[in-house]
Amino acid sequence: MSDHVLVINTGSSSLKYSLVDAASGKAAASGLVERIGEPEGHHRHRGPQGEKQTTRRFASHEDALRAAVDAFETQGPSLDDVEIAAVGHRVVHGGSRFADPALVDDELVAAVTDLVPLAPLHNPANLEGITVARRLFPDLPQVAVFDTAFHQTLEPHAYTYAVPAEWLKDHGIRRYGFHGTSYAFASEQAARLLGRDLAELNLIVLHLGNGCSAAAVRGGESVDTSMGMTPLEGLVMGTRSGDLDPAVHAHLVRELGWSMDEIDHALNFESGLKGLAGENDFRELSRRRAAGDVRAQLAFDVYCYRIKKYVGAYYAVLGTVDAIVFTAGVGQNSAEMRATSLAGLERLGIQIDESRNTASADEGRAVSAADSPVAVLVIPTDEEWEIARQALNCVRSTDHSGG
Ligand code: ADP
Repeated sequence: MSDHVLVINTGSSSLKYSLVDAASGKAAASGLVERIGEPEGHHRHRGPQGEKQTTRRFASHEDALRAAVDAFETQGPSLDDVEIAAVGHRVVHGGSRFADPALVDDELVAAVTDLVPLAPLHNPANLEGITVARRLFPDLPQVAVFDTAFHQTLEPHAYTYAVPAEWLKDHGIRRYGFHGTSYAFASEQAARLLGRDLAELNLIVLHLGNGCSAAAVRGGESVDTSMGMTPLEGLVMGTRSGDLDPAVHAHLVRELGWSMDEIDHALNFESGLKGLAGENDFRELSRRRAAGDVRAQLAFDVYCYRIKKYVGAYYAVLGTVDAIVFTAGVGQNSAEMRATSLAGLERLGIQIDESRNTASADEGRAVSAADSPVAVLVIPTDEEWEIARQALNCVRSTDHSGG
């Protein structure tokens, strides 16, 4: 039986896909369609014959997925030759309902639709991806893999906000957490790198990409995480504020006459590094900072300081820590950010080795000093592989239970 899974990750105007061998993690082909619905869209397909780019209008997500299927036909590998075991969909919000990946059926679609109010920026696009993939691949099992699922192990004291109790009971207002597939992947890889059993490890994992979050992971299970009901809470991100006094909303409404939509937009898309320095690309921010740009320096300082506060908090939550794990674009690549965020924590047993930290490598590696009681690891995340693995496991376990 084939181990290949077609992984689909849909955004409001983009569709990312990857044909992944769930056993090895190797992608036979992958691609991205961007600016769906705009006059000029862009499609990049990378397969055995190299990369091909196409620019044209993609009217809808269905149009984009059809373009992907055509690219498999013309540029390979042909989907007729590769037996696909499942289609795996990234779904951002699974609420309290989904602690595991689940087979897509009408009931699941209805449940994910019910969760749209909790994730209005993400779940509608994910649903669109599911709908068009079911239309195009009616005979393949489809699996939804939820970003929130990994954090369903949080205990009530960690996920409950101190607000009127009915808010949780009647409206589902609580901490859910995100980036779950990345945490599952990075935690397992960390255990492998340390040569230890994940069940006996306490980890602080920092997923620092465009979106950023932290998680305290005990024995492979999430005990706390910095994102909340939505992916806005917690660390400073590319364009999101992270933690903010909730009274700022009322102030902006009352004193400046802002609407809730304006505030929501500003905090999700105009804040974070972009808000502080006018730049959300960390590479460019680093270049400007090196050239003495004061705004870029402040943005960097605020970003690293917030990480340090969460490391301290999760250290206290876990009691002992075996490793701090950096992953995703910024986490994997910015040695300066790692060094600054963890500076001064030597008394907590956290010591970075400068030459290891600044050495460039694509592999998972330790960047801590050899005698640092707490290991500091850099692990390249691979959310597509993790989605493929989880989707395949889901299909196979369902096959068994169904007889
Ligand atoms: P996403 O959340 O979209 O998956 P990524 O994990 O790809 O994002 O992370 C994107 C971020 O990583 C961007 O801010 C980018 O500037 C940053 N990044 C990528 N490469 C480097 C690098 N070499 N040095 C510093 N930052 C980097």
